[in-house]
Amino acid sequence: MFDRGIEIKTPDQIATMRAAGLVVGQTLEVLRNEVRAGITTGELDAMAKELIHSAGATSNFLGYHGFPGVICTSVNDEVVHGIPGPRVLREGDIISIDCGAIVDGWHGDAALTVAIGDVPDEVTALLQATEDAMWRGIAAASLGGRVSDISHAIETSIDAAGDYGIVAGFTGHGIGTEMHQAPDVPNYGKPRRGPKLVKGLALAVEPMVTLGTGNTRTLADDWTVVTTDGSWAAHFENTFTLTGTGAWVLTALDGGRERLAALGVPYGGD
Ligand code: MG
Ligand code: MG
Repeated sequence: MFDRGIEIKTPDQIATMRAAGLVVGQTLEVLRNEVRAGITTGELDAMAKELIHSAGATSNFLGYHGFPGVICTSVNDEVVHGIPGPRVLREGDIISIDCGAIVDGWHGDAALTVAIGDVPDEVTALLQATEDAMWRGIAAASLGGRVSDISHAIETSIDAAGDYGIVAGFTGHGIGTEMHQAPDVPNYGKPRRGPKLVKGLALAVEPMVTLGTGNTRTLADDWTVVTTDGSWAAHFENTFTLTGTGAWVLTALDGGRERLAALGVPYGGD
């Protein structure tokens, strides 16, 4: 059912989104452990393809506006939408992996950034700051609140963590029977703006953060988004919903229970 352009899911539909979310979460967990110096981004993509298909799900990335991969692989100064291929990962790189899956027509979408071996402390801090901002954004969502409560919490968290750039050209989004739906979920802004947060709403929250400015450009492959200043970037994403009891992170293996508890937020999963 759509209410003013926003898809409101039934509990059964959310349960199917949880199934899709678990496929995404499990795929990312395997890839996180497979990432190492010497592997190519194309090999990671092949693994993801096998994992998604063997789980009985389908990829929502493959063929999306012609995208050729099952995952996006964005290395170092690449922010999002990197195309998997022959690129060999090296010690000291970071890679953002964005993955999605569909189960019975319902979508999941999540991403994480991993360091390969030792990276400078400032890069480790960037990854930490980006992941923390994602969780704080989710934790700021409550029934009766507004979408920009999430945006504001993300921006506040990043600003408090250090001197980072927030990528403004891309946002989180509603998700359900399509991967990208209304409403947009910006990664900055004033609180208490935008659509109301209601039961049955599902959102993908995905801060993209850099060690420089938030300015980006797209490479000639028409996909890969890089920072204009060459600074490195991190990207974390989860899909979540709000139930009557709290937040349920559909793409997190534990439903977000641990990280939400640490932030004092009630768990809304089953
Ligand atoms: Mg994504
Ligand atoms: Mg997304």
